[in-house]
Amino acid sequence: MVQDPSVWAASAREEADYPALEHDLDVDIAVIGGGIHGLAAALAAAQAGRTVAVLEAVAVGHGASGRNGGLVVPSLPRIGPDDVLRAFGAERGESFIRLVLGAPGEVFALIRRFGIDCGARQSGWLNPAHAPALVATLERRLDAWQRFGSTATLLSAEETRRRVGSPHFHGALADPSGGHLNPLSYTRGLARAAAGAGARIHERTSVRRLERHGERWRLITQTGSVTAARVLQATNAQSPGLTGDAGAAGTVPLVVYELATPFLSEEQRASILPGGESMSDTRHNLFACCIDESGRLVTGGMAPLTQVGARRWLPPLLARRLGQVFPQLAPARFDIVWSARASLTPDFLPRVFEPAPGWIAPITCNGRGVALSTALGSRLGRWLATGDTSDLPLPRSAPRAIPLHWIAARIPQWLLPLGMLADSRARRRVPTR
Ligand SMILES: Cc1cc2nc3c(=O)[nH]c(=O)nc-3n(C[C@H](O)[C@H](O)[C@H](O)COP(=O)(O)OP(=O)(O)OC[C@H]3O[C@@H](n4cnc5c(N)ncnc54)[C@H](O)[C@@H]3O)c2cc1C
Repeated sequence: MVQDPSVWAASAREEADYPALEHDLDVDIAVIGGGIHGLAAALAAAQAGRTVAVLEAVAVGHGASGRNGGLVVPSLPRIGPDDVLRAFGAERGESFIRLVLGAPGEVFALIRRFGIDCGARQSGWLNPAHAPALVATLERRLDAWQRFGSTATLLSAEETRRRVGSPHFHGALADPSGGHLNPLSYTRGLARAAAGAGARIHERTSVRRLERHGERWRLITQTGSVTAARVLQATNAQSPGLTGDAGAAGTVPLVVYELATPFLSEEQRASILPGGESMSDTRHNLFACCIDESGRLVTGGMAPLTQVGARRWLPPLLARRLGQVFPQLAPARFDIVWSARASLTPDFLPRVFEPAPGWIAPITCNGRGVALSTALGSRLGRWLATGDTSDLPLPRSAPRAIPLHWIAARIPQWLLPLGMLADSRARRRVPTR
């Protein structure tokens, strides 16, 4: 598939160039997919002394990992710790919540340890309320996350406006553990680290099928095969021919657009997120952004109702919204527009699907995968290497298809206008405190 180049490709300093697989290989662990998830797992498994092969259909970072918004976020989208505890039980739930909170720290520690040149800044993440009535929601959210050690605090309206650089917000959660980075460089840096630890990486190598041979798996590609005791399928549910129910039918795909403005002026840079934080607000129609190391503002958005022609009509709508949030940018415009596919689970929680013994297919996307895929990938890699389940923060489950999947797959887009309506209603609600 031909993709629009992202802003990250234009400024990436980390390189990746690995040979296609051209023979048969025998390893302990085979990883399908050269995104953050697969590479973090490959790194951990190789560090634990296992032989590892990563097979990537196109190029390292070709999927969501190299084309996302670059935000490193110590939180989950839409849901909180209570939802996690309900879904995973007290013990696993708590260890997963702590994994979420600690995930940004793991990302920045890996970057330091392997010298990954990805413009990373651990300058904090802001979660501002776009409506006065939502400040109480933020207080409840803060309380829930702080019970598990969150380092977030609540900012006043005045402090929020100063730190975001916008009159638009009424209070915010501020968590110093978050930040942002160039995700393509980060993913390539993980590949370099995994290769340095001994993992073999093959680009332009698409896995066409998995065959069971006794206790082992054989992964068939167009030019060779890999035999392995364990398989980690880290394809972000986007290889339906391979996964069957494991990914494609157990998740909902969502095309997300990312857009980068021209380089901001000195004055604009001094007033918009002057502390260098990344931010995502409280809207259903999420407004998220950061300023990358070259000085462009990067933001994202989804097309309501239909994808037809969205590449043309969506950017002007998102530019108008950007100019409303940051009047110092109006009339806002974008230089670079690209898109990628996210995979959503119905409850916004990750899953570790186990289609068959020795074959694991995790899903963490849900729009918050930079930090979470790193942390979960590392745990899965260690577990596959050692067999020790105590480190696993999620239960393994059998793949389950979403009923009426072809309808469910359209629901996020169809519901977006309702979300936008709720966002503007929230602005008119009187705060209850
Ligand atoms: C537009 C967008 C913006 C986002 N913004 C953010 C953000 O700001 N912060 C955040 O935390 N998260 C964000 N996310 C989510 C985050 O990008 C993902 O959760 C994360 O990158 C998923 O990583 P992954 O390794 O699981 O999947 P991917 O990066 O998608 O990697 C899967 C890889 O598998 C390969 N593959 C597929 N099939 C095969 C096969 N048969 N054989 C071999 N290889 C195969 C693909 O080529 C691909 O490279 C965003 C997502 C999108 C789409």
